[in-house]
Amino acid sequence: MLFGRTRKNPITLPKREVTNWVYTTCGYCSTGCSIEVGVNGQGEAVTSRGVGSADVNRGKLCIKGIFEHELFYSKNRGTRPLLRQQTHTPFQETTWDQALDHTSLEIKRIQQTYGRDSFAIVSTGQLMTEEFYTLGKLARGVIGTNNYDGNTTLCMASAVSGYKRSFGSDGPPGCYDDFSHTECLLAFGSNLPEQHPIIYWRLRQALEKRKFPVIVVDPRVTMFAQFADMHLPITPGTDVVLLNSLAHVILQEGLADMRYIAAHTSGHEEFSALVAQYNPVMAAKICGIDEDTIRNVARLYAKANAAMSIWTMGINQSTHGSDGVVAINNLNLITGNIGKPGGTSLSITGQCNAMGTREWSSCSGLPGYRLLENAQDRQEIADFWGVDPEFFPKKRGLFQTDIFPAIETGQIKGLWLVATNPMTSMPNTGRIRKTLEKLEFLVVQDNYSDVETTEYAHVYLPASIWAEKEGVMTNTERRVNVIRNVLKPYADSKPDLWIFNQMARRFAGGQKIKFPETAPKVFDEMRTLSKGRFLDISGMTHDLIETNRGIQWPMTQGAATGTPRLYSDGRFNHPDRKAKLIALPFIDNNERPDTDYPFWMNSGRVIEHFHTRTRTGKLGNLNKFSPTPYMEMNPDAAHALGVAHMSYVRIVSRRGDAVVMVQLTHRVPRDMVFIPFHFHECVNRVSLGLLDPYSRQPAFKQCAVRVESMSQQAAAVLNLAARSF
Ligand code: SF4
Repeated sequence: MLFGRTRKNPITLPKREVTNWVYTTCGYCSTGCSIEVGVNGQGEAVTSRGVGSADVNRGKLCIKGIFEHELFYSKNRGTRPLLRQQTHTPFQETTWDQALDHTSLEIKRIQQTYGRDSFAIVSTGQLMTEEFYTLGKLARGVIGTNNYDGNTTLCMASAVSGYKRSFGSDGPPGCYDDFSHTECLLAFGSNLPEQHPIIYWRLRQALEKRKFPVIVVDPRVTMFAQFADMHLPITPGTDVVLLNSLAHVILQEGLADMRYIAAHTSGHEEFSALVAQYNPVMAAKICGIDEDTIRNVARLYAKANAAMSIWTMGINQSTHGSDGVVAINNLNLITGNIGKPGGTSLSITGQCNAMGTREWSSCSGLPGYRLLENAQDRQEIADFWGVDPEFFPKKRGLFQTDIFPAIETGQIKGLWLVATNPMTSMPNTGRIRKTLEKLEFLVVQDNYSDVETTEYAHVYLPASIWAEKEGVMTNTERRVNVIRNVLKPYADSKPDLWIFNQMARRFAGGQKIKFPETAPKVFDEMRTLSKGRFLDISGMTHDLIETNRGIQWPMTQGAATGTPRLYSDGRFNHPDRKAKLIALPFIDNNERPDTDYPFWMNSGRVIEHFHTRTRTGKLGNLNKFSPTPYMEMNPDAAHALGVAHMSYVRIVSRRGDAVVMVQLTHRVPRDMVFIPFHFHECVNRVSLGLLDPYSRQPAFKQCAVRVESMSQQAAAVLNLAARSF
């Protein structure tokens, strides 16, 4: 007798006739797993497997990596460049020469008419580092716009900002090996098993050998919270209060590492005076964690010989995300937990190469962590590239999240989007749609022609995907790993490096500056520019990186290995070589639930999808497990509103509304709903996204909504209509 499973389209098993395995690195999340892609005798990619000798993943892959070879054949890949004079009219296929000529002429027209900075470029965390470096050279050294940023502002900007404020530089100090040495792990706003399953598996491996407390701080009972020893269900947006209170207990009870504080930090007096105000009795009323728990966690953390903190978007995506990161750094500085095995601050990065863009793209400055604000840095890069240093601006321009309002006000007239999809990823979709419609010229460069933002484009440039190219990426623990070319580019798509080089030739400046044509040659430029710097990669080559299955920077020329931890000598990158303890008063400035909008809306990821589903939404083996948006809702709250499990409801905020299917679960408290952020027709139609003052990162995870039950027939019609936008 046949049962349901045979009729339910089971997982497709890979074909086995592999004749060649090609080494590469996963192109989804920042874990940085080493992958081998199996290619058959016909030159087709037929399977993927983890690399057993790679320290990061030790042969394992998550579900996205297991099916990554299917990307090569996914539907709606861009095949030819597309062009049209007006949006909402049909695109015409065109040649690369025509598409690039037209784009370069439009950039020049807009810059000549409205000024250099009136044309903006927004990039991504998904390209190879050599491509980021080349785009930076094009944007800063040739086109010359200062309004150039990456979509990493939506995910890691608060971590970058917090590292810079505390330590004087970006760069995560720790590594995955710290799990094997720590005696206490504190995780903030990170659902590791679903977001970064292989990092979570590394943690489980360490726990199997040696037990230590795992404490998860999260408003929701995530999978990680369920596996933890302690779960602290914090009130959304109050992390700084909890962290100040932990520091209060540690200092008050004499548990701080005063020798480390005196030798390696500044600002202790002001910091101590501030946290003295955050006694656990007062803090409990704001952050929702009781006094005893705050004291217990503070003691556990401070008494451990080595303790570490990890975090993801629960900290970063907040109106005070940068302060949250600094507060975590404060905690680790006062307990002497920086730069030692098992003692660290470690941001778990989102996109596969968000680190690469931070290091080399020139989005926030100049390559190799150089600053536009520093005359010597400007001169060094000007000399190396062969441009006038006066061509560079003397301070960074707009962040991504400020570029869209600048389009609204007419300051920016043209935009080039590279592998980013703001129609789904930016908060307040309705506002973004109106903003994009105001542009005189929009060019979208992406692997897929059907990304939602292309609807508003005048030119579409089809870029090659993942291992149709080659280059390096840097993962969460600063490990540079290499992507080898597995297949040639699909149809008439082109590697991003080729596109940037071709664009450069169409500008007078680009004909003078050297633009190497291959990734290894670009990497050589980066190696030279990195010598003697914090992120020195001069000791690496593509081949050496593959042999080692990734190398952590810094690795100086002639060094035998990379460097697992930063700041082990207690010397930081502020001018006095000390880390800063920074006093952080809590400012309660976000939208909160009220009578009209009584629920917190929280958002996050599911394991099957990556970001705006441009890739994973097209892979049957992933999409079938998570095909539609849904909303977690507490059964008690649902009962009060007459909402049934698996029924559709309307969620409404002050920005807009969306229709979503309800999943009843106690993972969320009674005053909260949770929605995965991957789906275009859902979460960002209602989100607010107030910006952090330092990092300009949006507070995606906290806004207020109400839930309305509705006719299921009307829901089906509305849901269909929303999907058509
Ligand atoms: Fe790729 Fe991240 Fe999964 Fe590893 S954990 S296979 S890097 S998506």
